[in-house]
Amino acid sequence: MRKRIEDEFTTLSISRQRKYQLRMQRDKRCTECGEKAEQGSRCLKHLIKARERQRDKRGLKRRYLNTLSYRLESIAA
Ligand SMILES: [Zn+2]
Repeated sequence: MRKRIEDEFTTLSISRQRKYQLRMQRDKRCTECGEKAEQGSRCLKHLIKARERQRDKRGLKRRYLNTLSYRLESIAA
């Protein structure tokens, strides 16, 4: 059996998913897939996914083009 991870999050009474997210954040990786996240909390792919998901959910119409995900998108394109 694998030894369980012992770190600052081990003893917190939060869900396993939340611990995963906190560890990823600490290690500067995407909180969804674990890819390297240069800036922000997610990789570019998931930044965009999260952005579009939130637009939908909140019925937003404007796009804030100076936002990190748009800027990274235009660099990647
Ligand atoms: Zn990701």
